[in-house]
Amino acid sequence: MIWLRAKVSSMPRKINHLKGTVMKPEVTELTPAGEQRKLRLKISTAYHNQKKRAAKKGARLNYQVLDLQASAMDGPLLCHFCGISLTSLNLSVDHLTPISREGTWDLDNLAFVCLPCNLAKHELTEVEFSNLRTLIKTWPLNATRRFLARLRSAGAKFRQH
Ligand SMILES: [Zn+2]
Repeated sequence: MIWLRAKVSSMPRKINHLKGTVMKPEVTELTPAGEQRKLRLKISTAYHNQKKRAAKKGARLNYQVLDLQASAMDGPLLCHFCGISLTSLNLSVDHLTPISREGTWDLDNLAFVCLPCNLAKHELTEVEFSNLRTLIKTWPLNATRRFLARLRSAGAKFRQH
């Protein structure tokens, strides 16, 4: 996780256009304390959703909600893939190796990512999605945007089932 964050932050400016396609700037009236509270609540909700999903598959989480919250508060909270700032509005929790691809329920298989990246990634592994991002950055901007939009749209439909 740390390696990827470092990689994202050292990427040249030319990929910044991708960030704009992922999430529009947000306007929030929350105070920093209010935003912190909302983030903790969002992470708590994500934790309890994970716990329910794991239980359905006969598994148990080996970490507590406080562990997940603590890892979010440990340094700047940025999307693991695109590097955008995460807030209570766009934060989601991703299994780097999806459960459907033999990923574990462990804390070290989790990353905080923006919802658009999460929807686009869907059942790809961390490496597959990173490789895909590298590839599509070489395409014309419109092609990249439309491709990502299609991936997110399909990802959102899969989530409903
Ligand atoms: Zn992202």
